[in-house]
Amino acid sequence: MKNVYLLGATGSIGEQTIDIIQEFPEEFNLIAISGYSSLEKIIEIGSKFNLQLIAVKDEADASVIKAVFPDAKIVFGPSGLSDLAVYNKDDKEGILINALVGMVGLKPTIDAIKIDRDILLANKETLVVGGHLIKELLKIHPVKLYPIDSEHNAIWQIIQGEDTNTIKQLIITASGGPFRDLTRDKLKNVTLDEALNHPNWSMGKKITIDSATMMNKGFEIIEAAYLFDIDIDRIKPIIQEDSIIHSMVEYIDNSIVAQMATPDMKLPIIYAMFYPKRVDSVIEPLDFNKISNINFKEVDYKRYPLLQLAIECYKKGGSNRTVLNAANEAAVSLFLNQKISFLDIESIVKSAVDNHKTVIDPSLEEIYEIDQLTKDSIFKRYNK
Ligand code: NDP
Ligand code: MG
Repeated sequence: MKNVYLLGATGSIGEQTIDIIQEFPEEFNLIAISGYSSLEKIIEIGSKFNLQLIAVKDEADASVIKAVFPDAKIVFGPSGLSDLAVYNKDDKEGILINALVGMVGLKPTIDAIKIDRDILLANKETLVVGGHLIKELLKIHPVKLYPIDSEHNAIWQIIQGEDTNTIKQLIITASGGPFRDLTRDKLKNVTLDEALNHPNWSMGKKITIDSATMMNKGFEIIEAAYLFDIDIDRIKPIIQEDSIIHSMVEYIDNSIVAQMATPDMKLPIIYAMFYPKRVDSVIEPLDFNKISNINFKEVDYKRYPLLQLAIECYKKGGSNRTVLNAANEAAVSLFLNQKISFLDIESIVKSAVDNHKTVIDPSLEEIYEIDQLTKDSIFKRYNK
């Protein structure tokens, strides 16, 4: 039985993780969760599990939750997320599942690595912003960092038993998002509801918008570069509209191995939770009799400038990834609040990156400082 410490329990990945824990009560014991704006969901989860720690948004919420769960330890704010990540620090079998959205997930990930706790990572912004810090820490801490993101989980499945020196390139598939058939001119007028209507996946709002701009694919390429320690030029995106192939690896003998499954995040979550064991499926099997073809389309970088920008920021290095992510978080939040148009997301992010003076190898403190400054200046300008 493994103890699970779950950051972001009230979100899309968090809820699916909880479903899995409920399906395998002999294998996992949920003892700590965090939530942010969804107090009701926190209470609901708390009523189903014997939680020892609950992390909430602020002090006011903490007193509400304390009254409902007087025996649990209640923590709040960013430090509460860290408290959760290192709770029961001597529990060497326990796993931290990081299903937070945004770079708020970085510090708790680092804290967990420092106590040698294994991590299942959905929170890709952690690697986008702090990949260089995490890479260094993993050299001295024997921690397993397992990817939940479907593309990275696919690659991880594919490379089992292979010599990673024989990898020629990683081929990351992309659905192209809800606007893949629109011209750039038509993108000027798309609405929030249209942007939130992803063709293949049901996910949290932020990643759904990131999929529409393809910033998500840029983030995933950076994520893959860190996770698999591979040169970014050897990671290629390709449009695969149905999201049946979750990614591929091409080896030096030109053999290409793909991982396929029904698009359902429960598969990557469960694979990471049980690794190296496979368990009976909780998802619908693929039925090839119902699939007439699997299409591929080249990615047009002009069509998706944020994808291109993400790769450039990685290559430029230093704090450019911090600014890229911070500006994107701010712009997506403004778009979700209907303060800006869809294409404004691109221009806001590009202008923040263009105006940034790179800090080489930023420390965690510098990252948080640059993140805050970037977000503040964007919100000040647009949040009227
Ligand atoms: P959601 O928005 O559905 O959930 C995010 C979680 O983080 C919620 O529990 C939310 O709490 C919490 N949260 C939000 N803001 C804060 C904050 N400032 N401080 C503390 N907690 C906060 O996101 P997803 O589940 O969709 O995504 C989670 C991560 O997984 C993201 O990094 C995403 O890119 C990645 N991912 C998601 C996939 C998916 O299918 N959803 C697929 C692949 C990767 P509350 O809801 O209570 O406000
Ligand atoms: Mg993904």
